[in-house]
Amino acid sequence: SYTAELIAVGTELLLGNISNTDAQMLSQGLSALGINVYYHTVVGDNPDRLRAAVELARTRADILITTGGLGPTCDDLTKTVLAECFGKKLVFHAPSARRIEDYFRRLHPNRPMTDNNYQQAMLPEGCTVLDNDWGTAPGVAFEAEGIRVIMLPGPPRECKAMFTHRVIPYLKELADGVIVSRTLKLFGIGESSMEAQLREKMNAMTNPTLAPYAKEGECELRITAKAPDEGAAHALIDPVEADLKAHFGPLVYGVDIPNLERAVLDGLKAKGLTLGTAESCTGGLAAKRFTDLPGASAAFRGGIVSYATQVKHTVLGVPEALLDQYGAVSQPVARAMAEGARRVLGCDLALSFTGVAGPDPDERNNPVGLVFIALAAPEGTWVRQVNLSMGRERIRHIAASHGFDLARR
Ligand code: ATP
Ligand code: MG
Repeated sequence: SYTAELIAVGTELLLGNISNTDAQMLSQGLSALGINVYYHTVVGDNPDRLRAAVELARTRADILITTGGLGPTCDDLTKTVLAECFGKKLVFHAPSARRIEDYFRRLHPNRPMTDNNYQQAMLPEGCTVLDNDWGTAPGVAFEAEGIRVIMLPGPPRECKAMFTHRVIPYLKELADGVIVSRTLKLFGIGESSMEAQLREKMNAMTNPTLAPYAKEGECELRITAKAPDEGAAHALIDPVEADLKAHFGPLVYGVDIPNLERAVLDGLKAKGLTLGTAESCTGGLAAKRFTDLPGASAAFRGGIVSYATQVKHTVLGVPEALLDQYGAVSQPVARAMAEGARRVLGCDLALSFTGVAGPDPDERNNPVGLVFIALAAPEGTWVRQVNLSMGRERIRHIAASHGFDLARR
């Protein structure tokens, strides 16, 4: 949500001649809009102190509203100072001059309008003019460097009418913009490492913003943009996505996709390939997760849970000599399991999992969390070794994820 800050300009407020009722009215109105007001400042009719207050406000507020100092009597102190702070020239606004003439003529039919009154029609270039039907000084709104600046006349009756009829519609338009998010999914990087790599980038960004999340061994990076419409929001997100993809390379497995297995299924379907599994320590979890996906039948051939060493030999054809020499939890056995599954299941790609899910080391004293994951494909077989120091359930889950990570490449 937005934060607002109010600066009331007027020496009479500092002298205690009047109280800052404009601030009270504006604060009530802004909180009703869901906008948090964090600071009220009162400064006298002094350009240096007003400039200092504005410089401070721009560092911490999304919306800055000033009251007072717009009238012909104060040399346009507020407009002059704010235009200067935000590097804008004051330019003559003819429609406002005409409105001021009309207003003046209605009030003082027999008095000529002075140059002072025309001064009120000098407005910051490119601003949104907030027509004042309740007095002479037009209100002003502009956006600069990510902050919305709004200047309102001081007299409470005018200030209130301008807020109700001009500022609320202006701010509503702000809120009516769209918020669009896009989520990059990463596997193979820890959240803290990802955050460390992105900290500077994230701190410098305001729109879009970047937020990292971690869950179940995976990381997410959510890019969120706010813009008047979806097209504009996506245009803000596109370069950030491209930048992050270039930075993280193949660690990014998808965008706006629920999980790794979905990335695998999409890839297999696109290539017209089939998948099978041979699982030991994961006990069928990889097959379960893959078949949780609606439409998995387009690619999934089947899975074998070869838990006992003997079954790895009899069903998958892993040579007994390999099992004896290296043990069931080993690189050669993982390889032979995947190649066996590929043959037995008649699939293009087969994943195998063999490891120690714990809580105790296996009979060969392999540590808990040691898992070998293999992918057998027509071009060859790849084996990945991981050491997952975590509980049994997470070891099994993340081992299965590593399999999908292999299969998507
Ligand atoms: P004007 O066109 O009347 O000169 P202005 O925008 O220049 O309006 P100021 O000259 O600062 O505003 O103030 C005009 C009068 O409005 C003040 O004399 C005071 O009575 C009232 N006023 C100004 N600021 C506030 C405030 N923050 N809260 C309540 N009343 C205020
Ligand atoms: Mg005044």
